[in-house]
Amino acid sequence: MRRLIFLAFLASPGILACQGGVPVEEAVASISEADFLHKVGVIAHDSMMGRANPSPGLDMTAQWIADEFKRYGLKPGGDDGSFIQIYHMRETAVDFEASSAQVTGGPTLEFGTDLNFMRASGGAEVTGTALVLAGNLAAAQELPAEQIRGKHLFIVPTPTAASTGRRRVRFPPGVMSAEPASVIFVDQSSDEEWGAAVERARGQRQRIAPWSEGAEGGLPMLNIREGSLETLLASHGIQLSQLLAGGGGEMALIDVPGLEISITTVTREMGGFDMPNTVGILEGSDPELKGEYIVFSGHMDHIGVGRPNEAGDSIRNGADDDASGTIAVAELAEAFAMLAEPPKRSMIFLAVSGEESGLWGSRFFAENPGVSPDQLVANLNADMISRNAPDTIVVIGKEHSDLGEIMDRVNEAHPELKLTAADDIWPEQNFYRRSDHFNFARRGVPVLFFFCGIHEDYHGVDDEIEKMDLTKAMNTTKLMFYLGLEVGNSPERPQWDPASYAEIVDMGG
Ligand SMILES: [Zn+2]
Repeated sequence: MRRLIFLAFLASPGILACQGGVPVEEAVASISEADFLHKVGVIAHDSMMGRANPSPGLDMTAQWIADEFKRYGLKPGGDDGSFIQIYHMRETAVDFEASSAQVTGGPTLEFGTDLNFMRASGGAEVTGTALVLAGNLAAAQELPAEQIRGKHLFIVPTPTAASTGRRRVRFPPGVMSAEPASVIFVDQSSDEEWGAAVERARGQRQRIAPWSEGAEGGLPMLNIREGSLETLLASHGIQLSQLLAGGGGEMALIDVPGLEISITTVTREMGGFDMPNTVGILEGSDPELKGEYIVFSGHMDHIGVGRPNEAGDSIRNGADDDASGTIAVAELAEAFAMLAEPPKRSMIFLAVSGEESGLWGSRFFAENPGVSPDQLVANLNADMISRNAPDTIVVIGKEHSDLGEIMDRVNEAHPELKLTAADDIWPEQNFYRRSDHFNFARRGVPVLFFFCGIHEDYHGVDDEIEKMDLTKAMNTTKLMFYLGLEVGNSPERPQWDPASYAEIVDMGG
């Protein structure tokens, strides 16, 4: 008991904070290779099992970062006075038995036998007549929306999926916006392949995020077995074999008079899981500007465990992706928190989950930041900062706001870091839309994305701590510190380039 009290006293963040703090140089010097080695060593350790979404290793990582934030003296920015913000992912599965397709005055088509789910849909109850779209789907021609609307659209492509040896079929443009009752692709696979596809669809779980509640399910997209469709169309005077053999040039829309079908798709609730973001706040020192926030972010999740390599290692530790960026956020938090005088603006230190599964955590946080969204003035995101060219870090998004100019100025003022903050050298890869910062940009927050580029160990078992360039990780983090200091103390908040704003920001919210 005594020992516990003693330790609690030593670890108490309030005491550190009260002791006055340090000048900028000392705070910057706290960002060190040794810290990266130690801290990445914790979250990229085999015991974290690759921090999959969701997993105990991810939860442990989130909690460890929360404890670090507390130790640095940050204010909690999560739920109920904690450092953890939870979002819930609901899971559903399609219900083959409860779903049905009834031909008016005709047979019932059975899910599993005649029909399969191409993608999950639930809660749909649609009745409509049938329309066949045949021909070469690659012919990219406009389809008459008014002819498609409200009908079941059977798609019979030529050349067929089978004949091109590819299972993935191209989707004709404009079909979704034409609002058909359903889209049903003909399936020409063998009995064995069909059975396997049905089993896959039965076992599949759909993850429904808080922001897609109510938008799930929707338009049924199904497969129908060739034989089942053949019988169905033959009873209305259409020969499927002829359509499949068809010219292959233009697309053709063929109404099937008198064929009306009622389709009901049902999903079952399969529970779900909670996901953590870790959020710490450093309050700004200016009575007015402290109502504005700079968000530093990195994603703490990775892709878990996969196939073992020759040495038997199966754990994707994600040291570079993105333990490096997560620990950059932790190092920034520690450095900023020890300043004698914090920046004028407040700072949010954010470790998100779910990035690898579709940028979940950053989306949830950007929609639920705990302050008004227009109080977020910048997001500086680090995702993979410890590989490739030792003297260059690529900074993506410079051209979209004056954060780019500020970055260049700050970079020039710190030659001692021997690191160039380069412009985007892979614009064709569209990395601007591929990590967590994009969820902030879409909502009107100017962003920069610090990124070393893809490498041969990307998402592999060899993305290990031994392969990190700790000097580069450290100096990138120092550069982010100086940038944060500059933006944090500047009288004006960062400004979008107007053309970029019009192009990127999702005005619909
Ligand atoms: Zn990443």
